[in-house]
Amino acid sequence: MFVDGQYVDSHTEATFEVFDPASGEKIDSVPKGDREDVRMAVDVAERAYAKWSETPTGERSRTLFKISELVRGEAEELAKTLTNEQGKPLGEARSEVNSFANTCEYYAGLTGRVRGAHTPFSTGDGYFIVTKRPIGVVGAILPWNFPVSLMGWKVGPGLAAGNTFVVKPASTTPLTDLKIAQLVVRAGLPRGVLNVVTGPGAVVGEEMLDNPKVQKIAFTGETATGKRIMEGSSKHIKRLTLELGGSDPMIVCDDADVDLAVEGAAWGRFRNCGQSCTSVKRLFLFEKIAGEFTDKLVKKVKTIRLGPGLDPKTHMGPLHTDEQREKVESMVEDAKERGAEVLTGGRRPKGGELEKGYFYEPALLADVDYKAAMASEECFGPALPIFVVKDMNEALERANDTIYGLGSSVWTNNLERAYYAAERMEAGTTWVNSPPIARAEVPFGGFKQSGFGRELGLEGLDYYYETKSIQVYDYTQGKKWHFPV
Ligand code: NAD
Repeated sequence: MFVDGQYVDSHTEATFEVFDPASGEKIDSVPKGDREDVRMAVDVAERAYAKWSETPTGERSRTLFKISELVRGEAEELAKTLTNEQGKPLGEARSEVNSFANTCEYYAGLTGRVRGAHTPFSTGDGYFIVTKRPIGVVGAILPWNFPVSLMGWKVGPGLAAGNTFVVKPASTTPLTDLKIAQLVVRAGLPRGVLNVVTGPGAVVGEEMLDNPKVQKIAFTGETATGKRIMEGSSKHIKRLTLELGGSDPMIVCDDADVDLAVEGAAWGRFRNCGQSCTSVKRLFLFEKIAGEFTDKLVKKVKTIRLGPGLDPKTHMGPLHTDEQREKVESMVEDAKERGAEVLTGGRRPKGGELEKGYFYEPALLADVDYKAAMASEECFGPALPIFVVKDMNEALERANDTIYGLGSSVWTNNLERAYYAAERMEAGTTWVNSPPIARAEVPFGGFKQSGFGRELGLEGLDYYYETKSIQVYDYTQGKKWHFPV
């Protein structure tokens, strides 16, 4: 773990193992933190808060720029560690590490540029000022699919605003985050401002919820866990941002650039082995282009090369765990039992090195029943159901028929149509003619059960501040408050 600027063991000295999803082999072990370890880290973060929250914004900004520079400098090494523990291809791991650096850089530039407000009272006898104050110690709880970039989405704005952190990575992906924690101190972040405690969610995460010194929980993960986080946070009325699951629709209209959309669907579904919150999870094709589109997509998907993430020829790595693969397999089986046709993939590759890892051939399914699990729940892996719709209104009705509302996309060459769809899609983001891409400057978050609060953009910074009002009175005009006589 990383507490108070150094690597430490759990006070119990217990550890747990981390595995390579491409081979199933053990690659490392890390401390198995318990509640006492979290309490120690939170105490350290609380002590560090007193100073960091008062550190001039210019200095905070320079530190964030330096963090970004050091992370970029070590990107290759960090990306290899990420690929080893997470499974994603090295190129994707590199972009993820760079995304951490981008986020820090973006918020470094905003530090010191946040403005409050000054407004005269409506009664003319004084004014009020609105200022922004940091919140305190933040507990950041991370998932395994983007362990590095999502740490950046939290610590970037959070540190800029003057908060301190205890980060809990997912149990299966602690290694890269631990390396980054040390770089951050080398960049000049005072010891204790950023701490990382590794261990199970049910212990380390729960202590973060129970601990009254943790003022805010920034959580990314499944909707079911998010509900528990919300419940646990209510005890001390913690501030909360929840970035949860999604079942993103992609609508392709009959006037779309089919070739571009085919590329977008393949990348949008199968990047990170289909394990992104905003992966394309349901594809809706207008009747007129459905046949041509499906044929081209099947052809494209057949060219996706499976392999270990460290092999430069690999397009798609393994699923992150065997359990994750079994979940996807059971969704594909369920769809088949309800009459779906598997157009390509949907099997474990046979023979050779790939048998050792958690590989699964990218699957496309047609004639999927809307009641199938993959149509109504989040399918977190490389399988895509394709639906044919007659027009935009049917597409929108189907697309919105979910508890989720994270991302969505519409593909058309008609701007009016794009606007019509974007305004009606119940999702935190709609991409027009693009697969899902998150950018530091664009707010990101969910509608409905995909969560609340926003990360990234100017809006993301707001969630790391308390708004404080200061009222100042001009008594030369007399006093407004008095007991009745
Ligand atoms: P998960 O909910 O299983 O775990 C997330 C984190 O919560 C882990 O660190 C885990 O240890 C911790 N945790 C588990 N139980 C806990 C408890 N009782 N108290 C506190 N912490 C606890 O999610 P996952 O499987 O790691 O990630 C995949 C999910 O994350 C998918 O649903 C995906 O869509 C979602 N996701 C959402 C976004 C977004 O921005 N909306 C981004 C990435 C992933």
